[in-house]
Amino acid sequence: MNLKMIPVVPARPAAKAIPQTRGIEGEALDQFGRRFTDLRISVTDRCNFRCGYCMPREVFTADYPYLPRSSILSFEEITRVAAAAAAMGVRKFRLTGGEPLLRKDIESLIRMLSSLRTIENQKPDITLTTNGVLLTRKARELRAAGLDRVTVSLDAMSDANFRRMSDSDFSVQDVLDGIHHALDAGFRRVKVNMVVRKGWNEDEVTGMVSYFRQLPVALRFIEYMDVGASNGWNMQEVVSSNTLLEKIRQAGNTLLALPAESDSDTAIRWQHQDAPGEIGFISSISQPFCNSCSRLRLSTDGKIYTCLFASEGYDLRTLLQSGADKQALQEALTGIWQQRDDRYSAMRTEAGGGTRRE
Ligand code: SAM
Ligand code: SF4
Ligand code: SF4
Repeated sequence: MNLKMIPVVPARPAAKAIPQTRGIEGEALDQFGRRFTDLRISVTDRCNFRCGYCMPREVFTADYPYLPRSSILSFEEITRVAAAAAAMGVRKFRLTGGEPLLRKDIESLIRMLSSLRTIENQKPDITLTTNGVLLTRKARELRAAGLDRVTVSLDAMSDANFRRMSDSDFSVQDVLDGIHHALDAGFRRVKVNMVVRKGWNEDEVTGMVSYFRQLPVALRFIEYMDVGASNGWNMQEVVSSNTLLEKIRQAGNTLLALPAESDSDTAIRWQHQDAPGEIGFISSISQPFCNSCSRLRLSTDGKIYTCLFASEGYDLRTLLQSGADKQALQEALTGIWQQRDDRYSAMRTEAGGGTRRE
């Protein structure tokens, strides 16, 4: 198998020059005719977990060169980028990290993003992905600030496996409490993301299904990906979505297929026939969705990445700090989007890395 492996991502890779735009009239399309509709905003590079597949403890030590405060975009700067993106047709902002709830006063950013309008003059959809342990304290404030949806990551129902996966001292109950507080705060159809890693937590899958089927929750299984700084990814540790679907059915669950939520929806969705819960599969390895990928990523230090796997970003922070107005930011984002030709996961599959059957 000729699989391109992502090297250890340098902590601060060089930035690419922002391409000159050919004008901002009309909707920007990238090199494969894809539209730009989602912006993922990383608000911190820090986390209170050390999931081995994301921020392995050996790499993310106390000496790791985390971003100094002076390099981190302010909420005002993030909102300026988001406003330019909204003017280009972006309807959805996802706050992520690191652990986004560690960013002080994140509610203020949510309020600022909530005041933006899409090209259809609607409030943008604002979502947040979290490991959940700070949700118990923050769910109500987040909701009041204008957060529309929340996704909580949880990889096991047993404390032993949860601690192994997250390499933290928190308990499963800390995360479950967060999920229940989010539901009580009025978040509808909370999503729960589970990364499945063979030999680590695939035995937790049916227990997760049993727990969440009775709740208005969409439980989504994510194929373990070759992303992040040196997570030592190995195809042998990927459990394909088809394998999991079979396993969930064999455990006695009757599932009905659901339509995609939107064109850029990454999950294949199912509904329990006899319970409110939903199941979803995000099959980045076995069935990549690059064809409909409509996202840009804004890093904590103000770089724009055109793909989850891109090792170099475009430096927007310098532009922001030079006082660029909305038009100039829109031109920069348009130029970046028009040059975008990423399809990393699809190429991995074409190279034979996504089709192996377990
Ligand atoms: N800290 C927050 C959390 O864990 O939800 C937000 C950031 S985290 C990077 C966002 C999502 O990426 C989580 O659901 C996490 O499980 C997923 N993720 C991180 N590394 C991954 C990998 N190597 N393969 C698949 N999913 C991964
Ligand atoms: Fe932290 Fe989320 Fe990465 Fe886990 S997946 S280490 S919780 S950022
Ligand atoms: Fe999008 Fe890159 Fe993921 Fe493909 S690999 S779906 S282009 S982020």
